[in-house]
Amino acid sequence: MAQNVPPFDYTDDALALRQFVFEYWCEHGRGPNFRNVHEAIGLDRRRIVQAYKQLQLGITVVVNADAQNCDLLKIPPFSSFPSQVECYIDDRFHSYIGCASEAVAVSNMPPFRDKELRLESWCACCLAPITLVSKNFVLESVRPEGVMVHISASPWDWNNDTMGSMCDAMNFVLDHEHADRYERQVSRRGIRVTLPVMKEFVASVAEVRMWDYHWPPGAMNPESVIDVFRSRGVDTTCWDG
Ligand SMILES: [Zn+2]
Repeated sequence: MAQNVPPFDYTDDALALRQFVFEYWCEHGRGPNFRNVHEAIGLDRRRIVQAYKQLQLGITVVVNADAQNCDLLKIPPFSSFPSQVECYIDDRFHSYIGCASEAVAVSNMPPFRDKELRLESWCACCLAPITLVSKNFVLESVRPEGVMVHISASPWDWNNDTMGSMCDAMNFVLDHEHADRYERQVSRRGIRVTLPVMKEFVASVAEVRMWDYHWPPGAMNPESVIDVFRSRGVDTTCWDG
């Protein structure tokens, strides 16, 4: 249960591992394995696994802690597996992005400074192409216009165990009609968030992630998440109850 975790500090191992994984992923477009970690920052197997577990508790990574090699599935803004968003840099595939909201945030990672990132995604219901171009945390273009992020998991269930299901629930839709159809397809309801509001939502993370080596562990607070969206005019009634 990773809600209601009391504040804690990451160990030096966790901080070093987090920084290395971010640097490695930005450079290579994929995550490092144990040998890569060991050769770069000197941690042995036990210290690597324990550090990943702590980073998962602080909502920084998604790992399968029961796997002997502690499979690294996500370290937002990146995903190890084919996700909703592909990132291209200089017209070459770079990496899979963690979710639709990370498509808005990823260009703020320090190694991507002044680089133009093309994010390729699709409407969740009909798979129609959606393309964003982002640079220095500014959306330079969005095609087609009017695209929204659909969030089909209640914040009360974000990070029950890991943040994986939260990321899975953040998808692009073309408009309200397509959002309605997606909701029928997955038998869920969700909020619809414009990209400017989405940017405001992710800013608190995007502006410190990798910029601040000591960025503290995250905490999941469902009420404050809902307030953030409601206060910006998003209809959150589907989360009432
Ligand atoms: Zn659609």
